[in-house]
Amino acid sequence: MKNLFSGFLDATQILEDSTLISQYMADRTKHYKSLAKLVLLPQNVDELCRIASICYNNSLLMIPLGGRTGLSAATVGTGDEVGIAMDKMNKIIEIDEIGYTVECEAGVILENLQQAVSERGMLFPLDYAAKGSCQIGGSVSTNAGGINVLKYGMTRDLVLGLEIVLADGKILNLNHALIKDNSAYKLMQLFIGAEGTLGFISKVTLKCYPQVKNRQIVYFGVKNFEFVPQILQELRQRSFDIIAFECLSKVCHDAVLESMPQLRSPFQSIHHYYILCELDEKNSDAISEVCSELMESDIIQDAVIAQNDKEATLFKLLREAVSDALYLKGEVHANDISVPVSSLKLFLNDLNNLFRNSYSKYLLGVFGHIGDGNLHIYIINSNNESGEIFKNACLKSDHEIFALIEQYRGSISAEHGIGLLKKSALRYRRSETEIELMRNIKQLFDPKNLMNPGKIFTVEISPND
Ligand SMILES: Cc1cc2nc3c(=O)[nH]c(=O)nc-3n(C[C@H](O)[C@H](O)[C@H](O)COP(=O)(O)OP(=O)(O)OC[C@H]3O[C@@H](n4cnc5c(N)ncnc54)[C@H](O)[C@@H]3O)c2cc1C
Repeated sequence: MKNLFSGFLDATQILEDSTLISQYMADRTKHYKSLAKLVLLPQNVDELCRIASICYNNSLLMIPLGGRTGLSAATVGTGDEVGIAMDKMNKIIEIDEIGYTVECEAGVILENLQQAVSERGMLFPLDYAAKGSCQIGGSVSTNAGGINVLKYGMTRDLVLGLEIVLADGKILNLNHALIKDNSAYKLMQLFIGAEGTLGFISKVTLKCYPQVKNRQIVYFGVKNFEFVPQILQELRQRSFDIIAFECLSKVCHDAVLESMPQLRSPFQSIHHYYILCELDEKNSDAISEVCSELMESDIIQDAVIAQNDKEATLFKLLREAVSDALYLKGEVHANDISVPVSSLKLFLNDLNNLFRNSYSKYLLGVFGHIGDGNLHIYIINSNNESGEIFKNACLKSDHEIFALIEQYRGSISAEHGIGLLKKSALRYRRSETEIELMRNIKQLFDPKNLMNPGKIFTVEISPND
């Protein structure tokens, strides 16, 4: 099979070694096999088109690979696929300081893009803990959220244009990059969040923003989750410009401090929940005032305002490091859900009861982008129970959690997508009619079902049809 590609790709662009292949095909979920026939690394869109066209003509299954930081097993393969990694397509093409846009290839690492845009005095606001490894193409394909969604929206809200390479190798140019364009259906939107099932994203044009001038980071200590939405409400009522509103339970806060001994809690006392809040506010007295008021009315127990950039970075690290810190405590089963912000309190109460009654032997880590109603629920096998027992318990708990989410009209996947991990749960969020329409859309773009097959939902068509 290597011969199909070796005429135009050099040895560094064709990976055959099984250890390297399994590193490339794995994401951060660990329950799945990560195999492939080959991994290919195109250096430009022409090579990508040639690879896709050869795969199409030979009915080879294709899995687009970004930074492999995904959390839904959307890049894993069974061994029959060709993995196509975008690592070498990593050029920033143009930064437009008048239009406030940036155009880049899909393999650019998010942090590198943030940096390049910042050097030109602008902000690319998409931000989350995987920024040092995840790619723009992966962020778009998962419609990633992150900590700044409250102010700037999801990735979808930041994408102005896309260049797509379809399964048969043809280019679909949707990279028109206009803010206003009501000329019929916006096909570009279909590729955002499609998890590589419709085609390859090869180029992206993104929206930038002015830099935040008066960034203030406040860390709150709270005794009970019921006060958390109330704090958000109080800040909003005072018209603060809120960029991020993140919450972590004591389990998460303690895990970070344990895993990073160089960090210290900003507080002397212990709290059940902590909130990291980022504001764009010139008047720091106004923030101190609101903190005092919230303390007097017992809504918060304590608050610290970062006094300089170094302190702000340390406070942010307390939140950003949660996921990695929890993984150090044992095998993790992660859920990423959302419910309406106004229902968070009741939902979390029901969730805690469920775990207290049925799963108390596991550690429960709850944290997330509370301002968007988004909770990450990590079940941790901290006692090192047998993997099989843990897996079965997690599967059972998933369905109980999803039923609860359905009751609260929430989503089983707020940010991370469906992949393989949530495939069987899609029906909790999408009707049969919707899923059937999605299958039809996939068939339109990918008639041979070659693009990341078996992810999100199953399409009943043999690749040889
Ligand atoms: C520590 C940590 C924190 C995280 N925090 C957040 C968070 O706050 N918010 C959030 O939304 N997510 C978060 N994530 C998960 C998030 O989905 C991924 O990190 C990221 O968006 C995926 O980008 P990636 O480049 O790693 O893609 P990959 O994992 O490589 O791929 C993800 C999917 O995109 C597809 N894909 C990748 N590149 C392309 C392309 N060029 N064209 C077509 N399809 C492609 C793949 O086939 C796959 O289906 C976090 C992950 C980690 C490990």
